[in-house]
Amino acid sequence: MMSASSSDRERVQTIVDLLDDRYGKIDWWNAPPDEVMVGAILTQQTRWENVECAVDRLREAGLLSIPAIAAASPERLEEAVRCTGFYRVKTRRLVALAEFVVHRFGSTGAMDLMESDELRQALLSVRGVGEETADSILCYGFSRNAFVIDAYTRRICACAGITGTDAMLRALFEGALLGQNERYRLTHAHIVEYAKEFCSRKRCEECSIRSFNG
Ligand code: SF4
Repeated sequence: MMSASSSDRERVQTIVDLLDDRYGKIDWWNAPPDEVMVGAILTQQTRWENVECAVDRLREAGLLSIPAIAAASPERLEEAVRCTGFYRVKTRRLVALAEFVVHRFGSTGAMDLMESDELRQALLSVRGVGEETADSILCYGFSRNAFVIDAYTRRICACAGITGTDAMLRALFEGALLGQNERYRLTHAHIVEYAKEFCSRKRCEECSIRSFNG
């Protein structure tokens, strides 16, 4: 199995520090667990602006909670989340997650009593919840020390010369973030900000991170 080297650890620490210096404290996805779970499903394969649109519509329709989603008709949900694209698939995933929470736990409060690894495995057992979605729910919904590895993180790491499995990247970041949930939240937010500011605009010539490679 591939393992991280000390230079990988140094590079990750340098990325974390560079982004912290650049963006500092930013407000990022402070919401109750129900809303985070909904957002984590809706954000799959779309931009966050579209998620905000769907969250507003769910709120207006009285559907922005796990019990309300579990009880709603698919048609009402589809109408509310249509603006995120793939709305039929996302409706099925929302219903699967909501029914899972209601039937297995009763409420998100009961989920919060679970140990993080156990909760992660439980979330991953739900159809449509992959590692990125599960870790987003853990980190932002339940304030757990779970680092979210997404396409932006993989790209930035690859440009810095750090390649490996998602599990390896997750372990590298978790080693750099000293077990503080606030730092997990911020660092993922910083990566998304950087990717939007530089990677998506193809500003590679101005990128400091690629100089860490080699
Ligand atoms: S800006 Fe370009 S070089 Fe820098 S991390 Fe993004 S894709 Fe890589």
